[in-house]
Amino acid sequence: MVSAKTEIAVDTFLVGLGVSPGIAIGEAHLLSRARMAALERTIEPSDVDAEVAAFEEAVEQSRRQLEEVRRKVTEKHPDEHAYIIDTHLMMLDDQMLHDETLHGIRELLLNAEGALKRAIDRFREVFASIEDDYLRERMSDIDSVGERLLRNLMGESRQDLSALERKAIVVAHDLSPAETMQIDQNKVLGFVTDVGGRTSHTAIVARSLGIPAVVGLENVTALVPGGTPMIIDGSAGTVILNPSETTFREYLQKRQRYEYFEKELLSYRSLPAETPDGFRLVLRANVELPAELEQVRESGGEGIGLYRSEFLFLSRPVPPDEEEQYRAYRNLVDAVAPHEVTIRTLDAGGDKFVEEINLSDEANPALGLRGIRFSLAETGMLKTQLRAILRASACGPVRVMFPMISGVAEVRRCKALLEECKEALRAEREPFDEDIRIGIMIETPAAALIADRLAAEVDFFSVGTNDLVQYCLAVDRGNEHVAYLYEPLHPAVLRALRMISRAGRDAGIPVAMCGEMASEPIYLPILLGLGFTELSMNAPCISRVKRIVRQVRRQEAEELLTCAMEQLTAEEVARYLEREMARRFPGLYGSATI
Ligand code: PEP
Ligand code: MG
Repeated sequence: MVSAKTEIAVDTFLVGLGVSPGIAIGEAHLLSRARMAALERTIEPSDVDAEVAAFEEAVEQSRRQLEEVRRKVTEKHPDEHAYIIDTHLMMLDDQMLHDETLHGIRELLLNAEGALKRAIDRFREVFASIEDDYLRERMSDIDSVGERLLRNLMGESRQDLSALERKAIVVAHDLSPAETMQIDQNKVLGFVTDVGGRTSHTAIVARSLGIPAVVGLENVTALVPGGTPMIIDGSAGTVILNPSETTFREYLQKRQRYEYFEKELLSYRSLPAETPDGFRLVLRANVELPAELEQVRESGGEGIGLYRSEFLFLSRPVPPDEEEQYRAYRNLVDAVAPHEVTIRTLDAGGDKFVEEINLSDEANPALGLRGIRFSLAETGMLKTQLRAILRASACGPVRVMFPMISGVAEVRRCKALLEECKEALRAEREPFDEDIRIGIMIETPAAALIADRLAAEVDFFSVGTNDLVQYCLAVDRGNEHVAYLYEPLHPAVLRALRMISRAGRDAGIPVAMCGEMASEPIYLPILLGLGFTELSMNAPCISRVKRIVRQVRRQEAEELLTCAMEQLTAEEVARYLEREMARRFPGLYGSATI
């Protein structure tokens, strides 16, 4: 590889968040940031009208560009990503953005670009204070709309990723979803960004396009001049600038191993998820966006074990109506038929976009009006959703699932509302599945402790470990300062899981898991031993987990579980599991399997 014409030391190692797996090796292509370059200056009162006109023209130009992108994207991916562009178009019309900019020009006598830059910063501040990861990550949408406006205002032409002349790794502060969608997969080897998180649109689209990506590197755009040779490892979340010959060779081999492993995994696609001693597990997919449906089909997943319906509701000023929801749910049903779809009702919390209730003042949003509590406070919205789910159930197998349940009374209220909706649909002669199965997420300690009582009320359980671990251990799942305490193998969590699975088994109902714990191959023996019957995870993880299922005997998993339950700390459990699995199944958890 050609050495860098820069001061960057050989083998400079950066660590970020790997959001899309795979290894990319190439040269950096830097995307500039208009916001960094925007200059603020004061103007004369006589210039105000011209600056206002320039701002308004930039808004119109941005609208035309976005509509054009939307047209192109819809041609390429019908029904998929257009909603992201719609979100950007909506932000373009945002009253606060306009008012703040015009105030800056008219009252503070700032030039349009300075006033706009201040308005964007203000907008970002508001979003940064929101205690919801998903919404906070919508800041990237604001940045991208802001960047576009600024570029148009400053007369810079938009960098078009599809016009890349040669293969490169894209280095950007952030990539807007619109930019990500225009990526030519043959030219863009991978991308790295300063900002971003696991649930950002950019990360989601990268995964669906299969492009390795590392985000959250903080200052990679400041560090890397265009043309720098680099390697990104999207599985490990690492970036190496100016790699030495040795590192280069090492990663070439790693890439080969990864590609070989991926190919090998394809052979598991059509095989059943069955242990050598005949225990059959059902592996399903977690879905947030329509773009993921193709992967669900390709992964060999047996339907959808968790559809996070809140993704339909967020980032928009008004909730989707019954018809729009029906179409979205039906789309899921059609995509995975004859397998079933589990639709979880809205799991929002601190949701600013549901404007009837302002939850932003809650001191403890994770313990506040989220999930089913919000839906039961807004029964009109819940009924609309239940009607749409019921109508979709006429088209194929659908299950309905309620999030954040903490007691029997909540379940009964949900069931009563579902009955009400059924009654109304009968009267309207709308078809639906009379026997639609009803499930609940078990993700609060209260639900785990009364799992036996809850099991008598519903047709299935699905354990949401992302929240169960957080609430069991009193550790905020999004707070990096206590991340070391977030331990799925903590004995308290294992006991809760055992309680839940026993309650389900005694009541004769399926017990699923749809939290991230289900997708980690190393936890599989524990889940098998506990008797989980269904696991739901991101589609790309299905083959990885299936590969382990097909080699571990259920009986062995039970033995492992018994010893694991005797350990005193999460670390002891982890060490025990790793040691035993390496001894009994040498090579099963190789580095390429992560
Ligand atoms: C969970 O809590 O484990 C879960 C699957 O739900 P979410 O991550 O959407 O809260
Ligand atoms: Mg949850």
